Amino acid sequence: MLGLEQFDIPHDKGSSHGVNRIFRLAYYEHPSYVPLMRRARDLWIELETTVDEKLVYVTGSIDAGPPDSEVFAGSRESCLIHALDHEVLDSDQLTRRFPGYRLPEDMMALFQPEGGFVLSERAIEAQVRVAVANGAEVETRQPVRRWRPTPNGAVQVDTATGSYEAGKLIITAGAWAGALVSGLESLAIPERQVLGWFQPIHAELFTLDRFPVFNLAAPEGRYYGFPVFGVPGFKIGRYHHLEEATTPDTIDRDLHDRDEAILRLAITRYFPDADGPTMAMRTCMFTNTPDEHFLIDTLPDQPQVVFAAGFSGHGFKFASAVGEILADMAQERHTDTDISMFSLSRFM
Ligand SMILES: Cc1cc2nc3c(=O)[nH]c(=O)nc-3n(C[C@H](O)[C@H](O)[C@H](O)COP(=O)(O)OP(=O)(O)OC[C@H]3O[C@@H](n4cnc5c(N)ncnc54)[C@H](O)[C@@H]3O)c2cc1C
Repeated sequence: MLGLEQFDIPHDKGSSHGVNRIFRLAYYEHPSYVPLMRRARDLWIELETTVDEKLVYVTGSIDAGPPDSEVFAGSRESCLIHALDHEVLDSDQLTRRFPGYRLPEDMMALFQPEGGFVLSERAIEAQVRVAVANGAEVETRQPVRRWRPTPNGAVQVDTATGSYEAGKLIITAGAWAGALVSGLESLAIPERQVLGWFQPIHAELFTLDRFPVFNLAAPEGRYYGFPVFGVPGFKIGRYHHLEEATTPDTIDRDLHDRDEAILRLAITRYFPDADGPTMAMRTCMFTNTPDEHFLIDTLPDQPQVVFAAGFSGHGFKFASAVGEILADMAQERHTDTDISMFSLSRFM
């Protein structure tokens, strides 16, 4: 097996940098993500054991918003369908339990104790380390320029410096998917995002044991955040930050006052004890599909090529399980996981 990466492992030009990513069992986007999340979590824990390094932190998760919001109502539905432990808290109960949260009284919160975060860059590094230890070759700074099917049913892949022939090809190019899989230019669209870390005024309220990761449907947008970890700050972002569709070549990687203002707005209103100095900010990319569900499929007329793309800002938590699915699809031409929701044909 050969893995080709155009930059380094890890790097900060795609979608997976910035220390950590939330994982949530109470999946408001659709209940059918819950079994996939369970499998992904098992595989993250297996990876932790294999490399003897802590990669998963369980803090519990909060999904909050007005009672009829997708975030609150959808997470509750997933908990009920999949019999997940959870508690419903009003805003007073939430603040008493987790005092970093100060939500308005018309909001409700769902606490699910198994949520938390994965260390994304450490997990990528660990996955590559295990792959190499098991015989894989991994080459970095090797941009794939093009690939084409060969007459014998294999594929030829051309990079900046060489050419390879393989029986199977798996394409997971993130924001670059449209450049490698024709048809994805209009189905997997990159979007500029910004992450910020802010030094809490009361740091004791934003520790791992006192501040669960969150998703919050607020009038100002859908925010997500983390306790202090890695960078000395409370970490927060807004889904579809400033709604800036972009490309990997043209994305504005500079950070502006307006980027900080949109994050600080939520901190001031909902997490006032975190409203201290800015510690760090980063740009990153979502790659959005029209319905914000993933694309995982075999190319219609090329059964030797499988791809995964369009993770729409919520894919990292599943990366371990998606890797397993892709490997099965490439090797066995079959996966036991129901991935019909992620088919390319839903857009055809
Ligand atoms: C700010 C932000 C916050 C997020 N928060 C969460 C969260 O809390 N929880 C969650 O689950 N998800 C979250 N996500 C989404 C998640 O991080 C992404 O869905 C996931 O990282 C996408 O992984 P990917 O492998 O598709 O893309 P990437 O990680 O970008 O990987 C694609 C790789 O392909 C390489 N590549 C591309 N083209 C070529 C080529 N031609 N040749 C060689 N290599 C190539 C790229 O260099 C890159 O390394 C967030 C995303 C962002 C941006």
